[in-house]
Amino acid sequence: MPKKVGILGGTFDPVHIGHLRSALEVAEFMLLDELYLIPAARPPHRSTPQVSALDRLAMVELAAAEEPLLRVDDRELMREKPSYSIDTLESLRSELAAHDQLFLLLGWDAFCGLPGWHRWDELLQHCHILVLQRPDADSEAPEALRNLLAARSISDPLTLQGPAGQISFIWQTPLAVSATQIRALLASGKSARFLVPDAVLAYIHAHGLYRGAN
Ligand code: ATP
Repeated sequence: MPKKVGILGGTFDPVHIGHLRSALEVAEFMLLDELYLIPAARPPHRSTPQVSALDRLAMVELAAAEEPLLRVDDRELMREKPSYSIDTLESLRSELAAHDQLFLLLGWDAFCGLPGWHRWDELLQHCHILVLQRPDADSEAPEALRNLLAARSISDPLTLQGPAGQISFIWQTPLAVSATQIRALLASGKSARFLVPDAVLAYIHAHGLYRGAN
């Protein structure tokens, strides 16, 4: 049987229940064997210097430890500079069997920005793309993606065929949580309890993270 592997990238600064519920729901719906959370090396313009890449990684590991379907992959943080998705996909693909299915999870906004990504036209050689779309969104794809969608999109994500090459949509209501909101709460001395797993909150407090920064 081909393995079914999902990947969700993000800065995870910090990881929160929005990321975790979304990842878990997709993993269960798509019958994935595992879903990798892949913390990104932070681009220079987003730096919040008091939270290191290792702290972000440690928090994602604590969160994923509670759920067997979720795994953590540190390959982007272990590189010296921010990675292109194509590099991450090539690297992951080299570790899988040729018939294994790889699913890249992208929010609608990220998907619309795809034509600006490095070697974007090669992404589908390595994975399928699952676009996470809000049920209430009435968004139209940019011109540059229309032909691709016409050629590659499949209406039922459960019928995506083969190891890579197709696009499908998953309709999902995101929890109204963002890392920006959590950083702001913590910076102003308020609680982030119930927005992040307890183990992540304990790590944040033990390491004095996000105090006076957002
Ligand atoms: P920030 O507020 O710092 O921009 P964020 O909360 O959006 O951060 P990211 O690490 O940038 O978190 O997000 C990683 C991925 O998780 C992205 O694909 C993003 O669309 C998705 N995501 C973020 N928040 C939610 C949420 N509440 N529900 C579902 N998916 C989410």
